[in-house]
Amino acid sequence: MPEMNRPLESEVDVAIIGAGILGAGVAQAAAAAGHRVRLFERTAPAAGTSSRSSKLIHGGLRYLETGQFRLVREALRERQWLLKNAPGLVHPLRFFVPIYRDTRRRPSALALGLLLYRLLGGGPGSGRISPRHWHNPDGLDTRNLQAVFTYLDAQTDDAALTRTVLRSAQALGAELHCPAEVESIEKRPDGYSVISTCGGQRRETHCATLVNTAGPWVNRVLDRITAPALELNLELPVDLVQGAHLVLAGRLAAGAYYVEAADRRAVFILPWQAGTTLVGTTETPFHGDPDTVHPLPEEIAYLLDTVKRHFPRRSLSLQSTFAGLRVLPRGTGSAFGRARETLFATDGGRPPRLVSVCGGKLTTWRVTAEKVLHLLAPALPARSRRVDTHYLRLEPI
Ligand SMILES: Cc1cc2nc3c(=O)[nH]c(=O)nc-3n(C[C@H](O)[C@H](O)[C@H](O)COP(=O)(O)OP(=O)(O)OC[C@H]3O[C@@H](n4cnc5c(N)ncnc54)[C@H](O)[C@@H]3O)c2cc1C
Repeated sequence: MPEMNRPLESEVDVAIIGAGILGAGVAQAAAAAGHRVRLFERTAPAAGTSSRSSKLIHGGLRYLETGQFRLVREALRERQWLLKNAPGLVHPLRFFVPIYRDTRRRPSALALGLLLYRLLGGGPGSGRISPRHWHNPDGLDTRNLQAVFTYLDAQTDDAALTRTVLRSAQALGAELHCPAEVESIEKRPDGYSVISTCGGQRRETHCATLVNTAGPWVNRVLDRITAPALELNLELPVDLVQGAHLVLAGRLAAGAYYVEAADRRAVFILPWQAGTTLVGTTETPFHGDPDTVHPLPEEIAYLLDTVKRHFPRRSLSLQSTFAGLRVLPRGTGSAFGRARETLFATDGGRPPRLVSVCGGKLTTWRVTAEKVLHLLAPALPARSRRVDTHYLRLEPI
């Protein structure tokens, strides 16, 4: 029997590789649209970037500096949706931005930025507090302080959010194979054949469409795709940029702080679970194996120094550290100014049967998942929709 016609063990409409927030989101959207869905995760749900973010559900005030208005507007819309539909997982968080005499971002720029943020959907609640009216509950350094700006954004537990979206996808019929690593993929005229291994067991899944949501491993997965008698080069032009976080003992009383580090980068100092404080992040080019990412000593020193400069009397007792990898469009120069839009790439087929999707924000997972389904729609069979994800509520598990 010719290789291409050998019988296949199983058939699904959508196979997804990677159960981070994007894989979970695509599984939910595809299952909600009535499709047969199988999701492969090699370690555990949210084991990658989706448990190592700054845990903010936000438009990204600083992206206004680089003119990423569309991203900010979309993310703010999704923030509103999450606050309404996942109130047990996403809560509002008040931010304070201290401006000193030597801060690069001047009060006029901050005021304009906050006005724009509000107009793009950030809502009310922002303003300027003069140093005279600043109560200083957390011991912020007030020497040379010119003003403190305040605004509202939101926070989540990224891993818990991912697990909840995944559970919702499963409740709609999506199958999760975990731990199951996708080892090889063969392109076929009518879709893809995915070989996964779980506990030494090899399994073949034939799918009409394939979604690569492997995050920092996106190119490793693409490298595993073969096509009979075809040279394939699907590699995406991306860079990996590491971001480290610290968890410090002790809780902030006022809310979150958005401060300027010694190199003028913006750093978050956030209230976190169990009475701790989360500090992040850095932007260090990364060229190694994504499995080995870890905070570097210089990143830890940089973040500790930033806290110390702003909260000189605060205890710096370090409880833990973690690092994750951003997937950014390949480029030169600092990562700070590079686009944070989600990257989509298809196999170029007519219709496309493979979509790789990476980068972007945790905040925009739902709208990203809808875009993936839209790209794959011409290759998907007609099914009756089970539910519209817009009306789904997410309850913590
Ligand atoms: C430092 C940092 C801070 C951030 N802060 C924020 C923030 O505050 N707010 C925000 O909105 N966004 C933030 N982001 C962005 C956000 O975290 C990411 O966009 C999002 O988590 C990416 O999710 P993902 O599903 O694409 O990838 P991942 O979560 O990395 O998931 C990929 C999954 O694929 C699996 N996998 C890989 N290869 C295979 C294989 N062969 N077979 C099976 N499974 C495989 C991995 O195990 C992993 O679980 C931040 C990112 C970083 C790095």
